[in-house]
Parts: sequence; structure tokens; C-alpha cells
Amino acid sequence: MKDFRSSAARGVTPYVCGEQPDDREYIKLNANENAYPPSPRALEAMRAQMEKLQYYPDLTSAGLRRAIADAHGIRPEQVYVGNGSDEVLAFSFLTFFAGKTLCAPDLTYSFYPCYAKLFGVDYREAPLREDFSVDVEALLGGEGDVILANPNAPTSLELSQGTIREMAERLNRQGRLLIVDEAYAAFGTGTAIPLIDAYPNVLVIRTFSKAHALAGLRIGYAVGQEALIEALNGVKDSINSYPLDRLAAAAAQAAIEDTAYLEQTVSLICQTRDRTAQRLAKLGMTVLPSRTNFLFATHPDVPARTLLQALREDGILVRHFSHPRLENYLRITVGTDEQMDRVVRGVERAIGRA
Ligand code: PMP
Repeated sequence: MKDFRSSAARGVTPYVCGEQPDDREYIKLNANENAYPPSPRALEAMRAQMEKLQYYPDLTSAGLRRAIADAHGIRPEQVYVGNGSDEVLAFSFLTFFAGKTLCAPDLTYSFYPCYAKLFGVDYREAPLREDFSVDVEALLGGEGDVILANPNAPTSLELSQGTIREMAERLNRQGRLLIVDEAYAAFGTGTAIPLIDAYPNVLVIRTFSKAHALAGLRIGYAVGQEALIEALNGVKDSINSYPLDRLAAAAAQAAIEDTAYLEQTVSLICQTRDRTAQRLAKLGMTVLPSRTNFLFATHPDVPARTLLQALREDGILVRHFSHPRLENYLRITVGTDEQMDRVVRGVERAIGRA
């Protein structure tokens, strides 16, 4: 049969999301979703929009962009919003990297190489160090623009803001763009957002899916100097002028304005994370020092696949990657205390059996 696909479509290698099986009830700790529901104010804000669904949403998501700007002490013109940070990333690749050279760590968010392939990006990978930290020299030593998840996934490790600033400075002198994907930054120690005033080459991408517990609505954003935001808007308006629907924009605005709720849930998750890391370490696991809402862990004697299977039999889903350097690790989203008790007990049983 004739192959109707374009050459771009023929070249794709689609990203594989965490599975969503429905054969039984699972504790879902495989997609780094939030352990808690979103702010009640987000739900109220959505209800108020229900009566206006026959009308298109605001073309510029002005209310949400203002709320994001206020939260970070920047201007609304420095904010771009989209349908999940995945879409913001995709538009960023199309806007800034298509047909150009881009460097990224070899072990990072595995959507980056998918976009690179789709948009004809010359994608170069800089190996992480032995301890999974980012090798800044290797990353910056080549040519082209740079993308980096900070904290990184699936390793959960964070580079200091001092290092990010040095990278921004050096890349700026060389006329190279730096995208920092801060999907997990709310669980870490800092943000690169204050850099955007001084550095026209820095774009920071964030999401409402993790700390704000709105993964089901798909909202992400990018912040940077106006020229970068205008460039993104130009591409977006050539594809889909309304990437955010009324419900999503209203919920995200209410969620980011409810700072007390955000602080409370983020702090709970960080406490549960650190307690769980200690308990898994006591069971003999090596757990990387996480600055995210997930743990990246391995056991010296029990293969990750054995643990994965044992947890699955206990009704717990965690994430496993088949890359040779990652295959003996599990990425475990931090759930509630009760859920993490179940994880610790499951790991304990699996180790006992092995
Ligand atoms: N960046 C990183 C590093 C991620 O782990 C994720 C979530 N899988 C995303 C971006 C995308 O998040 P979303 O599309 O839900 O905003």
C-alpha cells in the first residue's frame, strides 16, 4: 500500500508515556503526578467558566499570564502559555532549534530527542558523569544551543543556580540559547527565572502538572525576554491560536494565586520524599538525593525489574527505563505517606524473597 506519510512523519520515534493499565486499581507512581488534588480554588474557578463554553477563550490568556508574572516578579509580556509544557517544549524546538544544532545531556527527559527528530534538529548528547550529575563542560564544549532539565529527570538531581548562571553567561557571550526545563523546580532549591532580565538567551519552561497538581488539564508556560516570547507566539499563532481552553486557564490562574495551598502540598511531598528516601536507604537501596517529587533508586543485589514486578503484584506502578545505564534503577513518584508505606513494604518483601 502507498505510504502517505510525509518524510517528517516517517522519521518520528514517538515518546512513550508512563502506562495507565485498567486491569485493576493501582497506586500510580509512574508519571510524577501530584500526590494531592489541586487547590479547591482551581475547581471553583473552572465551575465559573462552565457557563461560557460556547465562547472562545481569551486569545492571549491575559489573566493567567498576569498571575504567572506576579508569582515570579516579571511582566506578562515575558510569559508564554501552552497546552502542557510538552507543547511549550515542542513549539520551542520548532521556533528556535529546527534545522540547527542542539546539545542536551544524554540521560534526560526523553521527549527532547523525539522533538529533535520531528523538527530536523542536529541533536548532540553530552554524557552525564558516572554519578549521574550533568557534565557542564561536555554540555557546553560543543556548538549549538543547549537544553537542560533542572532538576533533571529521571535522575532527580539539581544543578545549583550558580552553575546555571555561569552557563547562561558563557552561552550568552557565544550567542547560544539556553532552555532550562523546570518541570520539577518547585520541589528543588531555586529557579533560573531571575536570570531572564540580564540574559536574552535564557528561556525557562515550567508546568502546572507537578507542583500545582493539574496534570489532567495540560498547562505549561515559558518565560524569557519579550523577543523570545514574541517568537514563540508567532509560531503558535501559525498553528493554534487558542492552545489553552477556558477551564484550564481559569484553573491554572486560581492555582498559582493560591500560594498557601501550593506551599503546603509541596512541603508535604518534600517531607514524604526525604522520609521515604531514608527508609529505602535503610533497606540497602541507593537513592539519589532528589530535588523533585520522585526518587531514583537502585538495589545492589535485587534487579530493578524484579522490584518493578514485585511492586506491580502489590498494585503499585513505578517507572522503569530500558536504557543500559538506567535499567537497574526505578523512578518512583512520591505519593502520600500511606502510599509510600506500601512502597517500602513492597520493596522490603521483594528483597526478602530475592
Ligand atoms: N519536562 C519534564 C522534565 C518532565 O518530566 C515532564 C513530565 N513528564 C514534562 C516536561 C512535561 O510536563 P507537562 O506536559 O505535563 O507539562
